[in-house]
Order: sequence, then structure tokens, then C-alpha cells
Amino acid sequence: MSPSSQSGSFCKGCTTTVHVSEEEIRQLIGSVARIRSVKLTTEEEYDRRMQACRSCEAFQFGTTCRWCGCLMEIKAKLQTSSCPSPAGSRW
Ligand code: SF4
Repeated sequence: MSPSSQSGSFCKGCTTTVHVSEEEIRQLIGSVARIRSVKLTTEEEYDRRMQACRSCEAFQFGTTCRWCGCLMEIKAKLQTSSCPSPAGSRW
């Protein structure tokens, strides 16, 4: 299906679908976790961050922050990441 036939489901910049499966997210998290220099947050902090995202109006497609375009299940795992909301960081 072409991007133009499903406007709103594709990235405007690269025409790749913005929908990401749970399996793809699990694989990406595994890849990030194997990078030695990347520090991950605690499970408690990760849950707190994802709870904030899931209740946020900027959380789109069940995966992505509209402000930074990041997959939040991955970004929220990174110890030094933060919420980019222009209204004030939520975590
Ligand atoms: S603005 Fe903050 S809380 Fe909302 S989806 Fe983005 S990172 Fe999550």
C-alpha cells in the first residue's frame, strides 16, 4: 500500500510506516541493552515513565512521542533520557 493511500500511517520524512509491532520493539530493546556504554534505568523508573507516556496526549500510535518522534518503550529505558514536552517534562 502506498504512503499516500494511508496518510497518517507513514513518516512524512522517510515514508516508512510508523506502526511498530511489539516483537520489533522487543528486538530493538534487546539490541540497545547489548550496547555496553548504554546505561538502562530501573524497572520501577521505566514503569513510571511509560505510565506518564501512556496517559499523555502526545503519545501516538501506542508507541511514539509526537515531540521527539522516539519509540518510547525504548527511550524510556535509557537512564539519561527525558521527556521533551514543551509544556514541561513529565519525567
Ligand atoms: S511528551 Fe513526554 S510524557 Fe508525553 S509522550 Fe512524549 S515523552 Fe512521553
